Amino acid sequence: MRTGRRRWPWILLGVVVLLVVAGYAVVGTAAAPRGEYVIDLSALHAAAVGKGALPDRIEVERIGDFAFPRTLVVAGDGLHLHHMVLLAHRVVWPDHSVVIDTAMGPAAAKKMPGSHMDTAAYDRLEAAMKKATAIVFTHEHVDHVGGVASAADPSAIAKQVMMTREQLDSPRLERPDFQPGALEHLQPLSYEGLYTVAPGVVLQKAPGHSPGSQLIYVELASGQRFLFVGDIAWTKDNIALRRGRPYIAKMLMGEDREGVAAQLTALSKLPDDVHVIAAHDPVALEKDLAAGLYHQGFTGL
Ligand SMILES: [Zn+2]
Repeated sequence: MRTGRRRWPWILLGVVVLLVVAGYAVVGTAAAPRGEYVIDLSALHAAAVGKGALPDRIEVERIGDFAFPRTLVVAGDGLHLHHMVLLAHRVVWPDHSVVIDTAMGPAAAKKMPGSHMDTAAYDRLEAAMKKATAIVFTHEHVDHVGGVASAADPSAIAKQVMMTREQLDSPRLERPDFQPGALEHLQPLSYEGLYTVAPGVVLQKAPGHSPGSQLIYVELASGQRFLFVGDIAWTKDNIALRRGRPYIAKMLMGEDREGVAAQLTALSKLPDDVHVIAAHDPVALEKDLAAGLYHQGFTGL
């Protein structure tokens, strides 16, 4: 009896240590890269040019804000809140446009922790989706295809929605969020290697964060180059530190973390004049806006 009394603090300590170690393994450590992910800028440029006028500019709408604990964003980087943004971008020519990602509708966004939505920005996104010649997606998660899922009249945007076969077939696409029949009316895009959506806008597959993840390369008439990387990086710190999300990302989202780690390595080696746009990074957004790389607010709708 006396021996048992002496043991229980050690048992308790053992349990605590186990919980800490397990917790560290689940939320505190990043994966090592598997293989090499290749971003061939010459091939992207060749696919972008020579097919017609390149776009004039890029516009962005900040549809909303939310927050996650930092260690879920950059493995092992503390438990303080990390602020994130929900963005939609628009590539603009004088007489047409392409929308990149559609964030999510105000009702759906209430599920995001600490979320705050700009409904006027979302209204402009809805108008832009109807007017676009194409709507493309960095991946199929609900905070990127949500604008399509929430569309009041899916038939008004069905022709321009360009979801890939991998995005439409993905178990990570939240099919119940869409109106009945909305997805079935879409024509899947199948491609290998690179695919030119419009002069200056090129897709490259990048499965890892989700099966349907892809890079979207944009080259403007000015020669400026942009690479939309979606959620491969939730913050550009993921790229600078070459450190991705912790194991819990695999548990919750089925993420191929080793594949993402290889992509982060490739992104970290890009020259500085390729402007990488991570989908949820408010710090990078403010820096890019201050540098005049693109402008906030969809215009001419
Ligand atoms: Zn996202």
